[in-house]
Amino acid sequence: MTKNGQTQQFDKAAFKAAVEKHLTTTYATTLANATPRSWYLAMGRALAEFTTTNLLETEKTLAEEKARSVNYLSLEFLIGRLTGNNLISMGLYENVSQAMEEMGLNLTDLLEEERDPALGNGGLGRLAACFMDSLAAQEYPAVGYGLHYEYGLFRQSFVDGRQEEAPDAWRGAEGYPWEVLRPELTQQVNLYGHVEAYTDENGTACRRWVPALTVEGVAWDLPIVGYGNKSVYPLRLWECRSTAPFNLARFNDGDYVGAQFPALEAGNVTKVLYPNDNHDQGKALRLMQQYFHCACSVADILRRHHAAGHTIEELAKLETIQLNDTHPTIAIPELMRILLDEYKLGWDAAWEIASNTFAYTNHTLLPEALETWSEALIQAMLPRHMEIIFEINHRFLQVVEAKWPGNNSIKRKLSIIEEGPQRMVRMANLCVVSTYAVNGVAALHSELVKRDLFPEFNELFPGRLTNVTNGVTPRRWIKYCNPGLSALITEKVGEDWPAHLEKIAELEQFATDADFQKRYMAVKKENKQRLADWVEENMGIELDTNAIFDIQIKRLHEYKRQHLNLLHILSLYHRLLNDPTFDMHPRVFFFGAKAAPGYALAKDIIFAINKVAEKVNNDPRLGGKLKVVFVPDYRVSLAEILFPAADVSEQISTAGKEASGTGNMKFAMNGALTIGTMDGANVEMREEVGDDNIFIFGLLVDEVQQLKQEGYDPYRYYQADSVLRAALDLLDTDEFTPGQPGQLSAIRANLLDGGDPYLVLADFADYVKTHEKIDAEYRDQKTWARKAILNTALMSKFSSDRSIRDYANNIWKLDPVNR
Ligand SMILES: *Cc1c(COP(=O)(O)O)cnc(C)c1O
Repeated sequence: MTKNGQTQQFDKAAFKAAVEKHLTTTYATTLANATPRSWYLAMGRALAEFTTTNLLETEKTLAEEKARSVNYLSLEFLIGRLTGNNLISMGLYENVSQAMEEMGLNLTDLLEEERDPALGNGGLGRLAACFMDSLAAQEYPAVGYGLHYEYGLFRQSFVDGRQEEAPDAWRGAEGYPWEVLRPELTQQVNLYGHVEAYTDENGTACRRWVPALTVEGVAWDLPIVGYGNKSVYPLRLWECRSTAPFNLARFNDGDYVGAQFPALEAGNVTKVLYPNDNHDQGKALRLMQQYFHCACSVADILRRHHAAGHTIEELAKLETIQLNDTHPTIAIPELMRILLDEYKLGWDAAWEIASNTFAYTNHTLLPEALETWSEALIQAMLPRHMEIIFEINHRFLQVVEAKWPGNNSIKRKLSIIEEGPQRMVRMANLCVVSTYAVNGVAALHSELVKRDLFPEFNELFPGRLTNVTNGVTPRRWIKYCNPGLSALITEKVGEDWPAHLEKIAELEQFATDADFQKRYMAVKKENKQRLADWVEENMGIELDTNAIFDIQIKRLHEYKRQHLNLLHILSLYHRLLNDPTFDMHPRVFFFGAKAAPGYALAKDIIFAINKVAEKVNNDPRLGGKLKVVFVPDYRVSLAEILFPAADVSEQISTAGKEASGTGNMKFAMNGALTIGTMDGANVEMREEVGDDNIFIFGLLVDEVQQLKQEGYDPYRYYQADSVLRAALDLLDTDEFTPGQPGQLSAIRANLLDGGDPYLVLADFADYVKTHEKIDAEYRDQKTWARKAILNTALMSKFSSDRSIRDYANNIWKLDPVNR
């Protein structure tokens, strides 16, 4: 890497010629007629020439070096726009900006033409994207495996305050400039049918799957560009295509349309991303997506393994497969099937390989998010896999019997098969039994996995359950999205920090430096202005950047408690109007969140926030002190404007419910102070910054559990707290929906008669009190600046580079290969 981070030989004239060539030949546009969009596409294609070359060369090097690799299997990769980020990783941002300038174009404007590839829902998918970035930055050999959804996460708009969903055709008509089709990697995937017994030439009794339907998986590679190095790893996304366009027998019967049905159906497998976050729906098409993803990926891993000259017995030595949640669990019986039925290994030999190849990351303790699939569904779609799952379970239950003889209740609890009116396969149990490592995603979460979710597994397999605390990539989440702060950091600690975030700790000494405080806060102000301009332009709301920018952006979910935030806003509204002694610093509450289309209460909460926003933003009695902004279509590219502009970060989940969170880390790095519960990674963030530099409130995990056990009564809080009562009762009036009372009452009903499952009312008073403390402290700008700087300085633990080193050292046993 050269001094300015440039890793790529850059010939400006050749680059400009390549852009023009793509403009005219790839996109059939003349220079005179080219729109900004076609310029962006042509520029993307010209840049992809570099990355594709490096991708192929990296593949070659790794095969030659016989390097051990990690295969990161995830149904979601929420990568966000690639162009700006790749330019930074390639060290070409300035060069390309200049080249485009010479062609009369502004790079910043062109970057805005890119549609986010939103191939994920939220934190889990974004984590996979940050991890790919960190694998490449540190040159840990890796392949990311995902699905090439035709439609990513739906686009959100608000119509009269209500969420509407529209399909997200992220590739546009022209295709995505960064992706490259790899026709030679095409795989066949079988579905349905039955299992046959037969005797092979040695007289051994064997089983084989006779499928009823075959589809094709074609590979699209997106380049994951290593920051400051020459490695480019593939994010390999499988697209499903039907092989046989028709069923010949039915075609010959004259049923032309019916004959194409299996093909039409199969063509739908990768049509759309399921929009649920932390919720399992159990739909057949989703299982088909999961199996399609796993079958293609496992086959590709084996192809690479053999192409590099290795034997099947060496698989676990050279390849490890990380399962991002249970979504790709079916890869385990798939590998077993191949080892048993195709390689003809015995069970023990096959099990030795498979169980030493897979590792599993648990992302949630929420019961509704723990995947189960009905035995009947798996039996029909994947009959051989169902047999293998039964055999894994049978052998596992013998281990349980040996440990706890005669204890049927433990057996029932640990069994991979849940008994009941219809038998279900518990995917998390299958994972814990069949992998060599299971990790939670923050220290607290991993403790709860051991203590509450899998205590017996922890006894049975000591050491298997571990922790790797999540992180985020400082390239996208500081350097790219916050150029002002980045320049300031570089000036003080040197230019290495994006690849070595430990360096950022050197900022600590400037936390009390008056001049640095001023400049740091000036950058914050600019970032607030950038957000205010976006809001003005896109939503027509005018904002004052002297107000506290208080931001909650994350998927809409009861456990994340956007409704607690809403109740606080309602209490401020009530007090501003009714308590003449009440004073507050002006504040803007921002929200960004998509609700799963079938999640009624989440949609009600969005509607309520929008209605409250409409009222408070236009109520002259409030003197401009209170504004509420719900930005539509929250996504990575919007996040890049929001995180840098925050003064206050809302991380207010019920303790024990948020596994880690990663938004919390992005905010703190960018100098927002957190108001948060002792949940997920908030706990470790508090350890890093110290209690004075974070605002912690609310019940602890054990207090939550105890309160629930005692019998939680939300009415008690309602009756005891007049401010809370006023806030809740506003939801039953027509204050925010003039002439139509009752439109917001579902939320109040859920919190009172519905039993308030996430203890919103129990935490309300402490939350309000803590916000009062924030209000008071913000008025002292020097103190605030010091705390904000300390947050930036003390966040290095939460670089995803550290997370990846933890995985590499403690789980994968993986070494970097430098190109
Ligand atoms: C970081 C991020 C998330 C995760 O946010 P949490 O607050 O951790 O739930 C979700 N969506 C986007 C677009 C993100 O960038």
